Amino acid sequence: MITINENYLKLQDSYLFSTIAQKVEKFTKENPNKKVMKLGVGDVTLPIAPIVGEAIKKATDDMLQKETFRGYGPEQGYDFLRQKIAQYDYETLGVTIEKDEIFVSDGSKCDTGNIGEIFGTDNVIAITDPVYPVYLDTNIMAGRTGEYNQKTAQFEKVVYLPTTLENNFIPELPSRKVDMIYLCFPNNPTGTVLSKPELEKWVTYAKKNKAIILFDGAYEAFITEEGIPHSIYEIEGAKEVAIEFRSFSKTAGFTGVRCAYTVVPKELKAYTQEGKEVCLHQLWNRRQCTKFNGVPYITQRAAEAIYSNEGQKQIKENIAYYRENAKLITQGLQKAGYTIFGGKNAPYIWLKVPKGYTSWEFFDYLLEKANVVGTPGSGFGPSGEGYFRLTAFGSKANTLEAILRIQNLK
Ligand code: PLP
Repeated sequence: MITINENYLKLQDSYLFSTIAQKVEKFTKENPNKKVMKLGVGDVTLPIAPIVGEAIKKATDDMLQKETFRGYGPEQGYDFLRQKIAQYDYETLGVTIEKDEIFVSDGSKCDTGNIGEIFGTDNVIAITDPVYPVYLDTNIMAGRTGEYNQKTAQFEKVVYLPTTLENNFIPELPSRKVDMIYLCFPNNPTGTVLSKPELEKWVTYAKKNKAIILFDGAYEAFITEEGIPHSIYEIEGAKEVAIEFRSFSKTAGFTGVRCAYTVVPKELKAYTQEGKEVCLHQLWNRRQCTKFNGVPYITQRAAEAIYSNEGQKQIKENIAYYRENAKLITQGLQKAGYTIFGGKNAPYIWLKVPKGYTSWEFFDYLLEKANVVGTPGSGFGPSGEGYFRLTAFGSKANTLEAILRIQNLK
């Protein structure tokens, strides 16, 4: 008899965004004349930069020629791209990352999900709450979370670190010892960031407790304020305790092109049950070589193109466009009396729902009365209840229209 991985049965029935999509579909069917403004899903709307398009065409030409055609590439990524990443994304911050510490991939979703494979299933995990759902769900699938406690509505081996208005969106160190700490800053969904001293606290904790930090910097390009770390490796000693994930998805509009990378420093260690040190770089390399055959040559050439002066200029123009949307949403909703967080260093605006509503009730209210779609905060974790996420990734016209409609509700 074929059996299943029963951990999958512990997952919540429906993924947040499919529930939203179903609700929107139903509403649109019932109200065919109403135009729905979507500020829900965190997908980009601007096309890829022209220079990226040129690189894709050129790389396609390479693939059409006998002399320049490429078959299987290195599983870890081509040197031409890894070199540029090390130089542009790290050297500029005063951080030394060797090119072979960089593993190019087809997305941070896969990397943040797959990384768990190299860690024991008995580790205790800590996740900020609310947060990008992939961290928790992939640990549930792996059987790392223990049983679900109906009373507390939490898994026994998951430590939730609330990040809410009450602690100014700064997670406190866990009271119980944890081994794997997921940090995502700028944060999805709250749009908030951690200062250097705050991040230092986590690096110190990880060192003291032989824990590892899984740092997701998918929204790093949206940081505007001085003094906010762009990489966890700006913190001294972080290379001994942290893996960093970066993605081209939001930085360069690659959500459909698919390219990201993960930095696994060579000094990073974890332990066997007997306490023997093992190099994580070797384990991840082994995992990737066994299960992954590299990102397409064409895609890696596309990513390389953003690391030219013209490439940087073009992607920054797109980011500026989304930042302007974030500003418009923030100002517009503040004017309408809402309490707003995030938006300054991230494409996400996190708002407190009006008194008397749950996150989902506010979702329904906005959809029905203003025909605007956002994301209920509770979908990102228990501490997201009472909050609501809007994204700055829409077109400017739609964003302005959505704000106006929300303002007119008041
Ligand atoms: N990490 C965070 C925090 C995200 O919000 C997202 C996408 O929304 C991702 C990773 C996924 O990135 P990618 O498109 O590279 O898979």
